[in-house]
Amino acid sequence: MIDLRSDTVTRPSDAMREAMAAAEVGDDVYGEDPTVAELEAEVAGLFGKEAGLFCATGSLSNLLGVWLHTQPGYEVLCDSYAHIARAEMGAHGALSGVTMRTWGSDAGRLVAHDALAMAAVDCRPYLVETACIEVEDTHNFGGGTVQDYDELQKLSSGARELGLATHLDGARLANAVAVTGRPLSDYGALFDTVSFCLSKGLGAPVGTVLVGSADEMARARVQRKRLGAGWRQAGVLAAAGLVAVRENMTRIADDHRAAAALAASINEACPGAVDESAVETNIVLIPVPGAPAVARRLAEKGLRISVLGPDALRAVTHLDVTEGECVAAGQVIGAELAAASA
Ligand SMILES: *Cc1c(COP(=O)(O)O)cnc(C)c1O
Repeated sequence: MIDLRSDTVTRPSDAMREAMAAAEVGDDVYGEDPTVAELEAEVAGLFGKEAGLFCATGSLSNLLGVWLHTQPGYEVLCDSYAHIARAEMGAHGALSGVTMRTWGSDAGRLVAHDALAMAAVDCRPYLVETACIEVEDTHNFGGGTVQDYDELQKLSSGARELGLATHLDGARLANAVAVTGRPLSDYGALFDTVSFCLSKGLGAPVGTVLVGSADEMARARVQRKRLGAGWRQAGVLAAAGLVAVRENMTRIADDHRAAAALAASINEACPGAVDESAVETNIVLIPVPGAPAVARRLAEKGLRISVLGPDALRAVTHLDVTEGECVAAGQVIGAELAAASA
């Protein structure tokens, strides 16, 4: 079975399991888990931020990041296909009391001017006041799109001029960095808070680190506890996260090569089926009518990929699949697409 549904399906490596077994731990609600503290400090340092907060999921980290910058009755601006808007179960509205207004985009690509033009500042009592702008890099539903750093810079300086906070959903920022070659601190410099997943391409079993100022992380720690998500000897998980950050950042480019090979292999079996030039990182979008039925047939052939909608499938490469397996998977997918369109 080859599983290309997501880069979250990876199993912890031997090095991670060894680090987990050996981790020094303590009660993190009492602030006494040294391994959690080490992970939080190390990731914060990579971003040039004062502090970090280890969270169980990226959804929790995004929830806390946006919450820090908003209040009930205020709005956050984001892409209409943003993870925070589509995939977090309405948490920002249901739990933080904020509304969202969204911009449209080409494959999730940020155009700073369009985003900034939507801001409502000093418009009360006529309009909902904007508090925060959120950006995703890479863009998941856009197909792993890498944001143009110049646009991120324009967004950051524009937001600061307007007095708006910014949050970066960096669930796959490691993938963006593998393409731009920029250090994480270049991203930390632009955004007030960043959510950085360890359990996507970096391969940790669990966890995301939120980074920001020391004051913000102290407030987020209280809100995390309020949500029932304080944790105790979480150092066993943080230990795996440290291995992920230290060992797996540099190999992410392998996943991008595997995704390109997968797309080429699909097109070899079914010419023109996917847009190879749109494969920027580890995600391959496959447009096909009747996508759920195609996915079911692929599963019968030992290949799992995810259904993005009625007309689209998504394959994601990760550290538990080789480039050779991706080429083989591409042949199976391509043959299925060719049969479906025949
Ligand atoms: C996966 C993902 C998250 C976080 O997901 P969790 O399952 O809550 O860890 C956030 N943003 C994006 C863009 C993602 O792809």
